[in-house]
Amino acid sequence: MISELNVRLFDEVTNLVAIDEPLGRLTTYEIGGPARFFAEPKNVEEVCLLVEKARRAELPVFILGGGSNLLISDSGIKGLVLRMNRLRGIYIENGKLHVGAGDSLPGLVKRASSMGISGFSRFAGIPGLVGGMIRTNSGGRHGTLADVLHSVVLVTRDGEETVRHVEEFDFGHRCSNLSEEIAVKLIFKVEWGNSADLDAERLEIMKQKTKSQPLSDRNAGCCFRNPAEGIHASKLIDECGLKGFGVGGAVVSDEHANFICNEDNATSDDVRRLLEIVKDTVLSETGYELKQEIIYWS
Ligand SMILES: Cc1cc2nc3c(=O)[nH]c(=O)nc-3n(C[C@H](O)[C@H](O)[C@H](O)COP(=O)(O)OP(=O)(O)OC[C@H]3O[C@@H](n4cnc5c(N)ncnc54)[C@H](O)[C@@H]3O)c2cc1C
Repeated sequence: MISELNVRLFDEVTNLVAIDEPLGRLTTYEIGGPARFFAEPKNVEEVCLLVEKARRAELPVFILGGGSNLLISDSGIKGLVLRMNRLRGIYIENGKLHVGAGDSLPGLVKRASSMGISGFSRFAGIPGLVGGMIRTNSGGRHGTLADVLHSVVLVTRDGEETVRHVEEFDFGHRCSNLSEEIAVKLIFKVEWGNSADLDAERLEIMKQKTKSQPLSDRNAGCCFRNPAEGIHASKLIDECGLKGFGVGGAVVSDEHANFICNEDNATSDDVRRLLEIVKDTVLSETGYELKQEIIYWS
C-alpha cells in the first residue's frame, strides 16, 4: 500500500527517485509493469540514503541488476526498485580484483582475460551485472562464482556497510543465503594466466553456448535448477515433449528445453502459467519435482 507519507518521504530526495518507471525494458525478458519508486544510485552513500528512506516509509526494496534472471509481474512493483548499474569500477588492490556490483559481467569476463587474470571464462555467455551473480551463485559446468570470489562489500537494510567472506554465503547449486543485503562491491581472488590462452578459452565456451542456447532470444536463462546431480532439467522437459509448447506469447525453446522465451509479446502471466504446466508435466511423467531458478517479483 503506497501512502501519501511514502511519497512525501521521497520528496526529500526527488532528484534521485523516479515514479512509475517501466521495468520490462530493463530485463532480458522485456516483460513486467512499472516500479512505483525507482532509483539508480551512483555511490554507496546514495544506496544507504535510499534504503534508509524506504525503511522509514515501510516500503519494500527490490534490487535490480541486469534483469537477466527475473520475471516481473505485469502489474509492477509497489515498492522501491534500486538499479545497480551505476556502481562501477574495476581495479586491483592488495593482490585482489575489486569489481563494482554494477559492472557488466560480460565486460568483466573480457577485461579479466585481457588483464591475464584466469578463472573468469567460466562466466562467458552469462548476461547481467556482477552483483546479480551472488543470489544464485551463477556459473555452470565450468565452475561458479563461489570458486573465484573472496568477499563482498554489502549494505544492510539499515543502511550500514559490512563485509562478508565467501564462506559466509553458503553457496550451492544456484543458491546462496543472500536475502536482504545489497552487494555494492565484489572482491575476487587473483590467479594469473596467459591472456591469449584465456581469450581462446572464453571464445570456446561462447561458441559452445551459442550452439546450444537461444542466446539472442528474449528469456531469462534456465527456468529450473537441475533436480539432482547428473539429472538435467532440460533433458526431463525435452523427454516430456514440451519443446515448442506455448502459452500466449511464451514458448518452451526448441534449442534448449529449460529456456522459456518471450516470442510474441508474452505477459508475465503467460510465462508463469507455462512454468506451472512444465513443472506439473515433469512431475507427473518423471517423478522429479523441478524448483524454479528464475526469480519472480510482484
Ligand atoms: C541467455 C541467458 C543465459 C544465461 N546463462 C546462465 C548461466 O549459464 N549460468 C547462470 O548461473 N545463469 C545464467 N543466466 C541467468 C542470469 O544471467 C544470471 O543469474 C545473472 O548472474 C543474473 O545477473 P543480473 O544482474 O541480471 O541479476 P538480476 O536478474 O537483475 O537479479 C537476480 C537476483 O539478484 C538480486 N540482485 C541483483 N543485483 C544485486 C545486488 N547488487 N545485491 C544484491 N542482490 C542483487 C536481485 O534482487 C534478484 O533477486 C542466463 C540468462 C540468460 C538471459
